Amino acid sequence: MNITKTSDFTPYLDSRHLLSLFTVLLLSCLILAYPVSAQEMRTQDLGNALVLISGSGSNILTKQADDGQVLVVDGGLEAYAQQTLTTIADATDKGQISLLINSHWHPEQTGLNRILGNQGVTIFAHENTRQWLTTTITRPWENNTFAAFPATAQPADTFYHYGELNHGDTTVQYGYLRQSHTDGDMYVYFPDENVLHGGGVLANDGWPLMDWWTGGWIGGLVDGLEVLLEIANDDTIIVPANGPLMSKADLQAMRDMYDTIFQRISTGFRAANSVEVTLSEMPTAEFNEQNGDPAEFIRRAHESLIPHYTPDA
Ligand SMILES: [Zn+2]
Repeated sequence: MNITKTSDFTPYLDSRHLLSLFTVLLLSCLILAYPVSAQEMRTQDLGNALVLISGSGSNILTKQADDGQVLVVDGGLEAYAQQTLTTIADATDKGQISLLINSHWHPEQTGLNRILGNQGVTIFAHENTRQWLTTTITRPWENNTFAAFPATAQPADTFYHYGELNHGDTTVQYGYLRQSHTDGDMYVYFPDENVLHGGGVLANDGWPLMDWWTGGWIGGLVDGLEVLLEIANDDTIIVPANGPLMSKADLQAMRDMYDTIFQRISTGFRAANSVEVTLSEMPTAEFNEQNGDPAEFIRRAHESLIPHYTPDA
C-alpha cells in the first residue's frame, strides 16, 4: 500500500507540475503585492512648502519648515506606509519627518504611526484619539476589529481644547471639533499660509462614516463644520480628509446640507421613527446624486442620535 501511494504521488512532482506550482505561487505573490505596488499617489503643491498627498486612503498634508524638518498631518493606511514615506521624501527633498499629527483615530489617518513612532517621531493628537488607540475597537455595524496600538505608535503628546505650536518658522494652530465624525476630531490651521486641514469632519468624496461607536454624531458634524467656517475666509485652501480641496463656499454648502439632513432625521427620531422609517422617508434625497447611495450613512446617522437623545438607552 505504501509503495502504491508513493507511486501515485510521483507524477505531481514532475517538472510540468512544479512549473504550474511555481506559477501559482508567483501569481499569489503578485496578487498579494498588488494593493501596495499599484497604489497611485498624487501630490499637489499648495505653495509655501505645503504639499497635499492623496491616494493612500486619506489626504495627507506635509509642511516643510525652513530647517528642512517635515510636519505630516495624517498618514494614510498602513498598507501603503512605505510608499507614502517614499512620496513624502520625494516631495520634501528627503526632509526628515519630526512631527506626525493624527486628525482622529481611524486607520486611514494612523497608518504611519507604527513606523514613525518606532523612529522616535513625535505623534500629536486629541486626547480622545490617543485613548481610542490604546484599546481594541469592534464597531457593531461591521465584522472587523481594530487592535490597540503599541505604546510607541500612540500619540505621546495630546491636547484637549486648542492651541498653537511652532514647527521651525511655521506657526500651526489646532483645535478640537468635539463630538462630530468621532469624539477626537481636530483641525490643523496654518494661518500664515491660510491652509486649513479639517480632518475627518470633512469627507468630500461621498457620504461620511458617522462613527457614533467612538463618539461621533450627525448634530456634532454640523457643529464641527461651523467651527471650521469660523476659521476659514474666502481665500482659505481647505483640505478634507478625503476628496478634492474645498473653498469656504464649499464648506458652507456642506454645513447646510448636513444641517438639513440632521433636522429631518432628528425630527423623525423624536417622533419615535425606526431606522427603517427614517430610510423610507429619504432624508438625503436631493443630495444623493452628488454623494451616492445614502443607506449606510442614514443608518449610522439615525443610530448616532440614540446616545444623544436617549442617554439611558
Ligand atoms: Zn475617519
